[in-house]
Parts: sequence; structure tokens; C-alpha cells
Amino acid sequence: MAHIVTEPCIGCLHADCVNVCPVDCFHQDTNMLLIDPFECIDCGACIPECPEEAIFTDDTLPDEWKEYTTINAEKAPGLPVITNSGQVPPFERGRHCQ
Ligand code: SF4
Repeated sequence: MAHIVTEPCIGCLHADCVNVCPVDCFHQDTNMLLIDPFECIDCGACIPECPEEAIFTDDTLPDEWKEYTTINAEKAPGLPVITNSGQVPPFERGRHCQ
């Protein structure tokens, strides 16, 4: 099992979630964050930090975002790790979070 970042993260990049992850398994794509499921320990600390409610567990993942299980698993390991929300440049923040 792993936690999964889904579509509501796109264009947000608020990234408060990365500040609380004990194993630094968030990775930054161009327009959203992704979780490496091979590193995530399912602690759940990131869920309440997400202002867009974009993070789910396998068993709470809405059907409309099932594809994000594969997207997180395939893309996250090859992307840069992000461990601090300050790593997201303000100009990259999107419609939700200025
Ligand atoms: Fe990190 Fe815990 Fe969230 Fe997994 S559930 S991404 S280990 S904060």
C-alpha cells in the first residue's frame, strides 16, 4: 500500500505535505507532486496538510483518479525529491496557492 497524490494537486504546489513526510518520498513534477510508493511508509501525516485534499490511500482513492496509482509509481522515482515547501519557486505556484 502507499499514499497517492491525485489531480487536485495539479497547479497547486502548496507543498506543505512535504514538510511533514518522515521519509522524504515526495517528488516534484512540473505541475504537481508525486509520492514514491516504494518509499512511502503510510504514516498518513501528509493527508491533513494538503489544502486541496489531493492525497489518498489505496483504499480511499476515488475511482476517477485510479490512474494516479500508476502515475505516482512510474514517474515519482525519476523526479527530484522535494523535502521543504520552500523549494517550490513562487512563480511555479498555481491557481490555488499564491
Ligand atoms: Fe510521506 Fe507518510 Fe505521506 Fe507516505 S503517508 S507520503 S510516508 S507523509
